[in-house]
Amino acid sequence: MARGSTSKNSKNNNLDGFSAATVFEKEQGITYKDFLILPGYIDFAPQDVSLETQVTRNVRTKLPLISSPMDTVTESQMAITLALLGGIGIIHNNLSMEDQAAQVERVKRYENGFITDPIVLSPKNTIADIDNISLRYGFSGVPITEDGTLRSKLVGIVANRDVDFERDRTIPLAKVMTTELVTAPKGISLIQANEILRKSKKGKLPIVDKEGRLVALMSRTDLLKNREYPSATKDSQKRLRVGAATSTHPHDRERIEMLIARGVDLLVIDSAQGYSKFQIDMLKEMKKKYPDVDIMAGNVVTREQGEALIKAGADALRIGMGPGSICITQDTMACGRSQATAVYYTALMAAKYKIPVIADGGISNIGDIAKALAVGASATMCGSLLAGSKEAPGDYYYENGVRLKKFRGMASIEAMEGGGGAKRYNVEDQKIRVAQGVSGAVVDKGSLFEFIPYLMQGVRHALQDMGCRDIPSLHKALYSQKLRFEPRSLAAQAQGGVHGLYSYKKPIIGAD
Ligand code: GDP
Ligand code: GDP
Ligand code: 5GP
Repeated sequence: MARGSTSKNSKNNNLDGFSAATVFEKEQGITYKDFLILPGYIDFAPQDVSLETQVTRNVRTKLPLISSPMDTVTESQMAITLALLGGIGIIHNNLSMEDQAAQVERVKRYENGFITDPIVLSPKNTIADIDNISLRYGFSGVPITEDGTLRSKLVGIVANRDVDFERDRTIPLAKVMTTELVTAPKGISLIQANEILRKSKKGKLPIVDKEGRLVALMSRTDLLKNREYPSATKDSQKRLRVGAATSTHPHDRERIEMLIARGVDLLVIDSAQGYSKFQIDMLKEMKKKYPDVDIMAGNVVTREQGEALIKAGADALRIGMGPGSICITQDTMACGRSQATAVYYTALMAAKYKIPVIADGGISNIGDIAKALAVGASATMCGSLLAGSKEAPGDYYYENGVRLKKFRGMASIEAMEGGGGAKRYNVEDQKIRVAQGVSGAVVDKGSLFEFIPYLMQGVRHALQDMGCRDIPSLHKALYSQKLRFEPRSLAAQAQGGVHGLYSYKKPIIGAD
């Protein structure tokens, strides 16, 4: 640290270690493993640490955790789980726009306050129509109106228990529906409606106008879901929030329109090198057309790249070129940046505009999440860390007795054949496609309902050790140079890991 020791920042007020400015000023790029953070003063418990954060200009989450838009990581089940637990998932775009929009819809329909667009049938529909709804959406409570549309007179309701033992599925719903209904009037508040729902002990509460026409529906299940997952990431209508990836290609304008129509909360422009005319033009156009939908732009790793996207309207920046676990970009393209350096500099620039940066890729344990936040990220985006979980797409299989799930880079040859990966890496129209990722497998991680609370409790401990109660105060300490860093030699890294043992039992994560 010859350079650091002469710098004006280095021995600030006789504090040990170095400011981030000094550490990142080095000629060499730095990754998470290359440094440690010196401990601060603790006068609070880990449960007092809040991990609440801003993932884009308008989207807040209780946890700094976003799942990558990769076809082996995020589809609706992953997105629902992350949102229930307090993070947010980004549905990948290696599938048709109809299928991607359907995935978004599944997340948006999972939990609700007032369901303002409930599926409705008419008395003439049959039990088979209920079966189809149940297959497609996973619920079977359907209000019945005179002509089968919303805003027509409510005449009954059909629930699973009205139809489950009926052998003849051609029977019209008029014959099986319940007609004595507890309803609530249009204009009632969510809190009052919840009270009626609780007291009525019914599964559903239809909301009707003065003429008895159906205007919305409420479900008792949502009261239970809300009680069970108090930290869920929700929109103003109490629906779970979800993001979706898109490319900058002209034909994806239609995809975006479809995603927005299904209620997507956040678009992620998925590009490996985001500093392009395509992305800047797209950002300007989309912010004008859809000012209410936040856009996470990227990927970028330098201040120049990031600032250009912010000026074009980005609501968050996605940082990373080449740190991903499945990634071979740096060796193939000769471009990229060491991840901690990339996050530090882009965050430093974006802080001026109050735009959050997301550290994307290369997060392999709890310490990496804490370090990404400590160098300025507002949240982390993870692929391999969440892959292999029960909630990730794909089936488990065994290799040499080990239970695995497939995990692949979106720019692996295999994923590019599916379409989306090729768009991200701009090789869609090329005859020869150069891979920037590999495909492989990861070990079964079990369910995220156990894994994510474990991860996040670990991050709370890390922030506690740093002496910071929340992410904004961590960033304040970073920029005021109160947070002190120290580079780590290779020997220090080896000493920091498990060593000298004949054998040991690995925890679920860490100790690689
Ligand atoms: P906030 O005050 O709007 O941030 O939201 P709260 O979570 O405090 O909820 C306000 C009211 O809405 C309470 O009665 C909650 O029980 C209820 N609530 C919250 N989420 C849901 C939900 O998903 N469905 C239903 N039906 N009610 C909800
Ligand atoms: P059901 O009894 O089979 O209708 O299912 P539940 O009440 O257990 O679950 C229904 C879940 O789907 C709730 O979380 C609803 O908010 C959600 N949902 C979303 N859209 C609709 C809809 O159009 N109709 C119904 N019944 N539920 C919906
Ligand atoms: P991980 O968390 O697995 O280390 O990294 C996930 C991130 O890697 C993704 O969010 C995405 O930015 C990036 N990524 C996904 N697929 C590929 C790929 O094939 N090549 C490269 N270079 N990066 C990828």
